[in-house]
Amino acid sequence: QSVAQAPVNTRAIQDLDAAHYLHPFTDSKALASHGSRVIVKGEGIYIWDSEGKRLLDGMSGLWCMNVGYGRKSISDAVYAQMQQLPFYNSFFQTTNVPAVQLAAKLVEISPPQFNHVFFTGSGSEGNDTIVRMVRRYWDLQGYQGRHVIISRHNAYHGSTMAGASLGGMSGMHEQGGLPIPGIVHIGQPYYLEGGKGKTPEEFGLEAASWLEQKILEVGADKVAAFIGEPVQGAGGVIIPPSTYWPEIQRICDKYGILLVADEVICGFGRLGHWFGSEYFGIKPDLMTFAKGVSSGYVPLGGVLVGDRVADVLIEKGGDFNHGFTYSGHPVACAAALENIRIIQEEKLVDQVREDTGPYLKQKFEALADHPLVGAAETCGFVAGLVLVQKKAANIHDCVPFDSTLDVGMICRDHMFNGGMIMRAVGNRMIIAPPLVMTHAEIDELVTLIRVCLDATL
Ligand code: PLP
Repeated sequence: QSVAQAPVNTRAIQDLDAAHYLHPFTDSKALASHGSRVIVKGEGIYIWDSEGKRLLDGMSGLWCMNVGYGRKSISDAVYAQMQQLPFYNSFFQTTNVPAVQLAAKLVEISPPQFNHVFFTGSGSEGNDTIVRMVRRYWDLQGYQGRHVIISRHNAYHGSTMAGASLGGMSGMHEQGGLPIPGIVHIGQPYYLEGGKGKTPEEFGLEAASWLEQKILEVGADKVAAFIGEPVQGAGGVIIPPSTYWPEIQRICDKYGILLVADEVICGFGRLGHWFGSEYFGIKPDLMTFAKGVSSGYVPLGGVLVGDRVADVLIEKGGDFNHGFTYSGHPVACAAALENIRIIQEEKLVDQVREDTGPYLKQKFEALADHPLVGAAETCGFVAGLVLVQKKAANIHDCVPFDSTLDVGMICRDHMFNGGMIMRAVGNRMIIAPPLVMTHAEIDELVTLIRVCLDATL
C-alpha cells in the first residue's frame, strides 16, 4: 500500500544529504555510498518513504511517537501557541502559561514525591541537569566531596559530555575523552549475559549487589547518586529480573544515596504506567523525561525533582546557575500538554497495562519458537528478540549470532523490504511501537517480523 507520491526527488535529496548532512551515530562515508532512506510522511503507526513505500514503525520514530503520527490536535495546539507567543525565556523572573500548566500536569501524573519540574530541550540535557543538581544538593548540605555518580555499562543516557559519560556505551567512551571525572559504572542486569546457572531472581539480587560493592569501593560518603533506566532501551531492551530494582532501592536507602530514574524511554505509558519506576515499584528522588512527554512532535525534556532534592535547592540554594534558552519553550510545552491530554483521553496507559501490552506479550513471545530466536521478551510496549545461530533448550546454551552485522542486515534489508522498522542492537532485535496499536496492528507487526525472519533462513 502506498500514498500519493510526495513531491520529492529522492535522488536529489540523497545527493544533498550525502554532500552536507552529517547524521548522528552514522558512518557518513558508508551512508553516502548507498544513500539515505528519505521519510516523508507519517500517519498512525505507519511512515512512508519518498518512493511511496509504507512501513510499520516498530520503533515509534526513536522511542518517542507514543500517540502515533498525524495528530492534528497537536499541530493545532502548536500553531495556536506559535501565533500567541512563539518564544519567551523563563530565566529572568518571567514565565509562560504552557510551561506552568505543563509543570502542574506533570506533577499531577507523577508519583506523590514529585512537586517540581525543571525543563530542558532533550533527554541528554535532562541528564546533564541531573549531574549538576545532585552535586549541588550534596554541596548545599556541606558534603562537598559527595560527587560520584554510579551508572551501568551499556546504559544510554544521551550524547552530551555528561549524558554520554553517565551512559555506559563503550563505543561512545572511546571517542572524545569520556567519561568525565566522577562517574563510574557497574554491570548491567542482563540475565541472558550473566545469569547462567542462576534463576532470574538470584541473578537480579546479584546484579544489584554490584551497586553495594561499588559504593564500598568508592566510599559511601563520596557517592551522590545512582542512575538507571527502568528498562535499558538503546542497550537492547534489557529487562531486569523482578528482584533487581527493589534491591537497588534498598541499597540506595541504606547509604542515603539519591536514586535517579532515567524515564526518557519508559515514561509516558510505555510500560503500562505513567513512569517505568512505578512498574518496578521503586520511589526515585529524581526522574529524567523527554521523548513521550511530547511524543516527539516538538523537542522537549526535563527533570522531575522530588521533594527531598527540591526542598534543599529551594530553601538553601539561591540561584541555580543552570538552564537552557529553550527551558520551558512555550510551543514545546503546548505540544506536550495536548499530547498528555490525548494519552489521558484515550486511556493509553491503562490500555497498554491491561489490554494491548498483555496481547503484545502473548503474540511477540510466541516468536520464540522460530529457529533463529533464542528468546523473545516484552515489558509493556518494549520488546526484544535474541537471535541465535543454533537453539538449545536453555538460552544460555544457544550458539549466539557471531556478528552484529548480520542482525543489522536483517533489520536494514529484510525488515525494510518486508515493510517494517525494527532495530538491531548486538544480537538483539528490538521494538518500541506506538502505544496506540490495536490488536489487529499487533497481529500485523508480529506477522511481519516472522515473515522477515523466515526470509533470512
Ligand atoms: N536517556 C535515555 C534512556 C534515552 O533513551 C535517550 C535517547 O534515546 C536519552 C536519555 C537522550 O535523549 P535525547 O536524545 O533527547 O537527548
